[in-house]
Amino acid sequence: MIDLADAIALVERAAAPLPPRRQRLLEACGRRLAAGIVSDVDSPPWDRAMMDGFAVRDDDFAPGGPDVVELDVVVDLAAGDVTTIGVPPGGCARIMTGAPLPRGAQAVVPVESTVDGTAAARAGGRVRLREPRFRAGQHVARQGAAFRRGQEVLAAGATLGAAEIGLAAEAGAVHVLAAARPRVAIISTGSELVPPETVPVFGQTRNSNGPMLAAAVTLLDAEPIVLGGVGDRPEAIRAAVAQGLAADVLVLSGGVSAGDLDLVPAILGRCGVETVFHKVRLKPGKPVWFGIFRRADASSTLVFGLPGNPASSLVCFELFVRPALAILAGRSREAWHLPSVRAVLSAPLQPAADRPVYLPCRLIVGTRNEAVPLPWTGSSDLVGLATATGLIALPAGRDRHEAGTEVDVLRLLSGAEP
Ligand code: AMP
Ligand code: MG
Repeated sequence: MIDLADAIALVERAAAPLPPRRQRLLEACGRRLAAGIVSDVDSPPWDRAMMDGFAVRDDDFAPGGPDVVELDVVVDLAAGDVTTIGVPPGGCARIMTGAPLPRGAQAVVPVESTVDGTAAARAGGRVRLREPRFRAGQHVARQGAAFRRGQEVLAAGATLGAAEIGLAAEAGAVHVLAAARPRVAIISTGSELVPPETVPVFGQTRNSNGPMLAAAVTLLDAEPIVLGGVGDRPEAIRAAVAQGLAADVLVLSGGVSAGDLDLVPAILGRCGVETVFHKVRLKPGKPVWFGIFRRADASSTLVFGLPGNPASSLVCFELFVRPALAILAGRSREAWHLPSVRAVLSAPLQPAADRPVYLPCRLIVGTRNEAVPLPWTGSSDLVGLATATGLIALPAGRDRHEAGTEVDVLRLLSGAEP
């Protein structure tokens, strides 16, 4: 059994930022690019009409010309239409926004500038246009005006927000090299477990840890891989572990205490996972197990065996798995752990004095923060945690903490707001 601070330090030492990963564009949403994106096309890819109207030649609208210009409509072009027909002097094309300008035309006169009811003129007809402030090339987005083929449109280090994802898509980036989102395999062990959709019969327990840990992983912007529930049978656990070791992190719940069927540490050992620690001076969460699976290519999988009781599981996730995921994701040290604040107890507490204790509370933030302990029946009780906005952290060695005492409180970031 080791001290909590030592255990946390061992996790921090074992974790290292993941190298960037090639991923599908949308998977990289919100992440930083590790390599720039170079476009395989010009944007716009060709001269594009930006108004509905008539594609015309600049020289038909030369200054000093007539007030109203009458032109032959030689072709009709909707967005997506292409033509080999060119626009001759005295001609024009009826054109819709988004269509490529036909050969010979350089500008668009909007449909609003037609006179004498000729707005509906089509190929074969004639249109009369009044455009007193005509500018050469008007209402046309020129090929390559935004960027050129071969140009870097996003540099390494850019964060992929919505506009960046759109730009990368336009540039033809199907896959990108971006910061890796840690992949976290989750296994719930226990022969008593049934899935949430099953009404448990006598002796059965719904698997709440699986969804809970997947949610905790998701809220940290990592990717959960839910491997489901497995019974307390060595072969079943072993098969699930073999699968889970392909991830960056493997989180198991249950089977790490001292019971006959607490098989997880031994099986992990047989699968080649080195034990870093087993059992921490902590309540809840004493049985927690941590190890490393090292591969020949120097990559590794961090493996956490969390206690089966849901509240213990979640407290251990927050204390040990959270910093590991933050480090893997490359976050700065300040973001590794839940933020800790000092607060005054609103009621006395009598914890087990032999080890540090974490208790759910409502944290009232003010000039003087207040920690209101919540009713809690122990490590299988998720109600207290579900309503908590903080975890009171009481040090070992004191049997009683009076109301008005200052204590450390970890702010639960995903809990209900005060
Ligand atoms: P264990 O750590 O396997 O000894 O389990 C301790 C307690 O947690 C037992 O009452 C289990 O039934 C319960 N438990 C284990 N795994 C889960 C789970 N995935 N969801 C809910 N309760 C669980
Ligand atoms: Mg069990």
